[in-house]
Amino acid sequence: MRDKILKQDRRALARAITLVESGREDHRAQASELLESLRGAGKQALRVGLSGTPGVGKSTFIESFGMMLTEKGLRVAVLAVDPSSARSGGSILGDKTRMEHLSRNPNAFIRPSPSQSHLGGVARRTREAVALCEAAGFDVILIETVGVGQSETVVAEMSDLFLLLLAPAGGDELQGVKRGIMEMADIILVNKADGDLKTTAMRTCADYAGALRLLRKRPQDPQGFPKAMTVSALEENGLETAWDEMTTLVEWRRENGHWDARRAAQARFWFEEEVRQGLLAKLRQSPARETMAAIALEVENGETTPSRAARRMLEEHLAS
Ligand code: GDP
Repeated sequence: MRDKILKQDRRALARAITLVESGREDHRAQASELLESLRGAGKQALRVGLSGTPGVGKSTFIESFGMMLTEKGLRVAVLAVDPSSARSGGSILGDKTRMEHLSRNPNAFIRPSPSQSHLGGVARRTREAVALCEAAGFDVILIETVGVGQSETVVAEMSDLFLLLLAPAGGDELQGVKRGIMEMADIILVNKADGDLKTTAMRTCADYAGALRLLRKRPQDPQGFPKAMTVSALEENGLETAWDEMTTLVEWRRENGHWDARRAAQARFWFEEEVRQGLLAKLRQSPARETMAAIALEVENGETTPSRAARRMLEEHLAS
């Protein structure tokens, strides 16, 4: 499978992603071995996180932006982190029917989000899918998510660049975007800057540009970033400019060491996160689960304090 992926075989890539999505113990072992064998192979892709609430135009944007990139000779992969799929079976991200042309493009690869039980599982699967796409020689990997808080952080932690897609709106709605999400954005794209919405879009863009200027300056930004700009995914306006800005930012970060530093910090973050998840999983299994329940009862009955009980629990079960 390794060699086929390196030869950019799409079916092998799709099968490998199915493997990393599997929760079966033997599949996990195989996936882990495959990823280890691909480590450092292929070239570094540009990983672009893209967030926006439902209806803002993510699919339309990915379709037209993705097509534009393929016309430049770039190979584009689309992945998704969908926090809603498990709970509600709600919006499907990375849905091929919503990206009709791109999904039929031989230089594009779209993988819809799988249903997963928890965000941790989705995060791992997406991160590993990103690594597989990178090994398969994709130049740009778009990682899509819905704006519901936690999932943005997950996507930002696996992207080189984070785009926030917004709709034209009145001034009041500016408050609706959480400060934390604004702080994550490298470029804010106010979509639907066309027809009747054009003026509103330009005003919204100016509002956000103002809000971005008030944020703390980040060391990983050249002059003028983060920035807000208008686009129309539908009319394919502003997409070239957006790509130019992204390229400018990325080149600056590469030249100034921020690219490598960010990837290194992300690798460390995911290592620590995996350890955390591993510990939690261990606590959910026997015999820890029973001890946990027993000690919890003591805490409930006021026989010990929560902190002392927790220490006892950790001492007993971290040693094993
Ligand atoms: P998503 O839920 O974020 O993926 O949003 P969609 O891409 O499905 O778009 C939601 C709606 O907005 C659709 O009816 C699109 O046609 C429309 N839309 C998307 N982009 C634009 C745009 O640039 N201009 C206008 N006027 N409508 C757009």
